[in-house]
Amino acid sequence: LQHLEAAIKNGVAKDFPTVKFLNYKNRKRILVTGGAGFVGSHLVDRLMLAGHEVIVVDNFFTGRKRNVEHWIGHENFELVHHDIVRPLYLEVDEIYHLASPASPPHYMLNPVKTIKTNTLGTINMLGLAKRVGARVLIASTSEVYGDPNEHPQAETYWGHVNPIGPRACYDEGKRVAETLSYAYMRQEGVSVRVARIFNTFGPRMHMNDGRVVSNFILQALQNNSITIYGSGKQTRSFQYVSDLVDGLVALMASNYTLPVNIGNPVEHTIEKFARIIKNLVGATSKIIELAAVEDDPQRRRPDISRAKKYLNWEPKVPLAEGLKKTIVYFAKELKRTKHSQKT
Ligand code: NAD
Ligand code: UDP
Ligand code: UDP
Repeated sequence: LQHLEAAIKNGVAKDFPTVKFLNYKNRKRILVTGGAGFVGSHLVDRLMLAGHEVIVVDNFFTGRKRNVEHWIGHENFELVHHDIVRPLYLEVDEIYHLASPASPPHYMLNPVKTIKTNTLGTINMLGLAKRVGARVLIASTSEVYGDPNEHPQAETYWGHVNPIGPRACYDEGKRVAETLSYAYMRQEGVSVRVARIFNTFGPRMHMNDGRVVSNFILQALQNNSITIYGSGKQTRSFQYVSDLVDGLVALMASNYTLPVNIGNPVEHTIEKFARIIKNLVGATSKIIELAAVEDDPQRRRPDISRAKKYLNWEPKVPLAEGLKKTIVYFAKELKRTKHSQKT
């Protein structure tokens, strides 16, 4: 992985001899929808490094070419500009289906499109998987539990979602995506895997993502006020992106077909989280309270017994370590955008 990091930094990943890491027999053609996004691009790095052929399909709604540009030109890599709401004909062995806006401000921007992407888009990917006999992993979310009244959340909990609230386009969209997956499994024999992903952070998160990690880090780096929505007593559990990628790859490879929570069970209040980030950055920011957002889930923490038992997976990266890497990334991004504004 150090080799890869160096290759990416030097912009020569496209010349990286990935094939030597995998014998030809185990090499797969893998489609990653949403592969130009935050999580998708880290997954692409992992799959490319393992020597697979990777096709990224993305409409660049929230993703960027820059996230995968280090692979452009590599013989195992292909980047396709396409909206998955439209049918897609490709021949692949596996599909990681990640295409969907993920941050609340992004998915609320165009709720109808968010629903279409998660319903029609997922039908297309399941139809593709059915036609070519590919296994498909669906990126679901902890949001299927809504504002949970069970804590921590195990996969057996059915959730508490407002079907007509501002978050419904995403929450219900993902719930239908899960329903579709198991309908295609039962009726058509499609091989499906469902990952319920909890809050994830790391480099390549979008600057204007609006999610709490990017907001707090950017505010702290600029010594602006750190904005807590509501009392700050609500909780979240944050996992670093490399842990998520490990979990997704392990789930794809496993024989386990029911949904699996992939998240870090270490839970913090948002108030505490603001202080942690302020201290790590060494900022002089004030921490202020703004109005609460509608339907904000009050507590969230994954029960990861299933992932431990069936995938032998658990997160490894401590919060502070992941945050430091993310802070370095955003500091560079700030410099880059300031520089490009000047020139
Ligand atoms: P992201 O916004 O960075 O990436 C999503 C990608 O999907 C982007 O590249 C976007 O351009 C693409 N996309 C969106 N609509 C599309 C469409 N109709 N056709 C083709 N491409 C489309 O978000 P992310 O954080 O990388 O999330 C990836 C997946 O993981 C999403 O499905 C999300 O719901 C899920 N997830 C993420 C988190 C998290 O904390 N990051 C938590 C739970 C679930
Ligand atoms: N589909 C696709 N690529 C394929 C196969 C199917 O995009 O390689 C889409 C197609 O548009 C279809 C959807 O997936 O509407 C669901 O496929 P399925 O076979 O279940 O439905 P049908 O074609 O019978 O309507
Ligand atoms: N939040 C906040 N300030 C911000 C952004 C988010 O206090 O600038 C809160 C938000 O209200 C929620 C938590 O942080 O309680 C996580 O929000 P995020 O949008 O990152 O993800 P969610 O888990 O809600 O999908």
